Amino acid sequence: MRKAIYPGSFDPVTYGHMDIIERSAKIFDELIVAVLNNQLKTSLFSVEERVNILKELLREHENISVVSYDGLLVDACNGFGAHVIVRGLRAVTDFEYELQMSQTNRKLAESKVDTVFLTTDLRYAYLSSSTVKEVAYFGGDISEFVPEMVAELTYQKFKKG
Ligand code: ADP
Repeated sequence: MRKAIYPGSFDPVTYGHMDIIERSAKIFDELIVAVLNNQLKTSLFSVEERVNILKELLREHENISVVSYDGLLVDACNGFGAHVIVRGLRAVTDFEYELQMSQTNRKLAESKVDTVFLTTDLRYAYLSSSTVKEVAYFGGDISEFVPEMVAELTYQKFKKG
């Protein structure tokens, strides 16, 4: 059983993330999408909201589950029984940080965890959650960046604020 974990903030989930999720679910028998509950970072959506959004969007995929985690990613891998971490690469700018993280995680996990990188679909190469939030904040159109449900919820957040 090839089980992988795809960790991230997903604040909010974009079509770039969805593409990596759907492609990974074809490569691995089981994919765990793990939402990071990062106490040090302020997020637009709570971790519960992010988990619920992903669950709703992915409900038809039988081999994908959505969870949250905090603390070290390697501990989450151990807890969920995953030996592979999936990460997406958009550009060279992602590479340096991702390389360092993958080596750190491999060291922490005593070589029991490897990171697999999927390169972004070119349609989404420019997309990031922070850009989506910025465009939505100023009332711009984010319909090509995120699923409809995510767009509505993102606009609602800024209306309330
Ligand atoms: P993190 O805070 O862990 O970087 P993100 O939610 O920003 O969390 O990203 C999670 C993963 O998805 C990272 O590996 C990131 O490089 C990847 N990713 C983000 N946006 C895209 C995109 N447009 N195309 C491909 N991969 C992406």
